[in-house]
Amino acid sequence: MKTFNLAAPVDPADSAVAHTVGDVQAAVSRAVSKGLRVRTYTTGHAAATFGPMHDALLIRTELEGGVRVDPDARTAWIPAGTLWGAVVAATSPHGLVAVHGTAATVGVVGYLLRGGVSFYSRRFGLAPNTVRSIELVTADGQVRTADAELLWALRGGGGGFGVVTAVEVELFPVASVITGASFWPVSEAGRVVKLWRDWAREAPESVSTSLRLMNMVAAPGRPESITSGQVVCVDGAIISETPDLADAREVRDGLLGPLGKPVHDTWRETGPEAVLATHMDPPNPVRAFGDHMLLSDVDVDAFVRLAGAGSPLLSAELRQLGGAVGRPHPEGGALDHVAEPFVYQCVGSAADPEAAATGKRRAGLIRSELAPWDTGRTIPSFVGSFTQPQGHLDAEQVVTVDRIRQKVDPDGVFRGDIMPNATLTS
Ligand SMILES: Cc1cc2nc3c(=O)[nH]c(=O)nc-3n(C[C@H](O)[C@H](O)[C@H](O)COP(=O)(O)OP(=O)(O)OC[C@H]3O[C@@H](n4cnc5c(N)ncnc54)[C@H](O)[C@@H]3O)c2cc1C
Repeated sequence: MKTFNLAAPVDPADSAVAHTVGDVQAAVSRAVSKGLRVRTYTTGHAAATFGPMHDALLIRTELEGGVRVDPDARTAWIPAGTLWGAVVAATSPHGLVAVHGTAATVGVVGYLLRGGVSFYSRRFGLAPNTVRSIELVTADGQVRTADAELLWALRGGGGGFGVVTAVEVELFPVASVITGASFWPVSEAGRVVKLWRDWAREAPESVSTSLRLMNMVAAPGRPESITSGQVVCVDGAIISETPDLADAREVRDGLLGPLGKPVHDTWRETGPEAVLATHMDPPNPVRAFGDHMLLSDVDVDAFVRLAGAGSPLLSAELRQLGGAVGRPHPEGGALDHVAEPFVYQCVGSAADPEAAATGKRRAGLIRSELAPWDTGRTIPSFVGSFTQPQGHLDAEQVVTVDRIRQKVDPDGVFRGDIMPNATLTS
């Protein structure tokens, strides 16, 4: 079975590709009759978090039907297996957006179940809060629409409930945005990181950004100024509350003006479909590893010293949280908000063992230097490996999620899907 992260191949005891709900039911029933557990996935973007599958039948969801947008209700019905690129293509013509992530190739279901931080999140919150309905096949082979309790647990509860076959999400009216990226040489990282960090804490909710120290790979359309040496990049999206974008321009100028002239800049006024290109995520499968922490603050000197000039990592990223991300949602799921102001995430090449070892050593150094600001909590969609414990649920939530899981999967058919520390009994 193929995975997006080629550094984390999967080796299940059996496998199936499901194109219909009936295919999912048949695969679950085959697994149960063979005494196998069931695992499921969409793209394998998160393959490094999967863990062993030697006792499992792995179902890849590629359900047919396509995205159905209801512009009046402002919702989209999305079959499992759909990638965010297809959702954005379906919603944009209606002047509507889903709270999608940065990459067109990420699967809708994994992103929504695991946390979903978007360039729209400071305005509209974490993506799981926008999920209105989930259809799934449970261990007994039945197709269900999740009731209120199961819907709560599915959204951030840590997995292990069943195979999701479709989701319905809320859409938001956004006809145009200002989006893009600015780049400076890494020699300016200290100045840029400090200004960005201070701006990020006070910025209006209409803007969501990320700051990365990057070794960018050469690719068509990328100028040499950003691929010939390490760079610092600030990118994101600004939503306008007025048709003329005047307020969004003001926010853009407040962010980019003080940062000074970049060596390259792609910020522009455009339609929401352009937001998927802003972060320049790799379109094709890669061999990579990652690490992740939630930070209460950023030690600029430590971050720039270890992730800046000479770092072997492809990217060390700080994502701006706050705004609606920081507020509990009245109809949200188990993970409905994140209190920390910054997500840290790094990505390194695992193209060969030596590159991976060098990168992982650097990631380890960054982790230990930033430890005083690491709250120990996590967002599952950013967790980089199977061995990293999850910290997104508190003890009471773990007990509640386990009770709900026990009801839908009393024999633990989906137990292997549960993320570490997201259960009492794994
Ligand atoms: C290039 C890139 C950009 C990214 N950008 C963002 C971002 O902006 N914001 C963000 O929050 N995250 C981001 N991520 C992380 C991404 O959201 C997670 O890796 C997410 O798990 C991907 O979902 P998937 O379904 O494609 O993953 P997969 O690796 O296919 O699945 C991950 C897990 O999701 C669950 N799952 C998937 N499909 C099903 C199903 N049909 N039924 C039940 N469970 C299922 C399973 O537990 C599975 O183990 C990014 C990742 C990459 C590689």
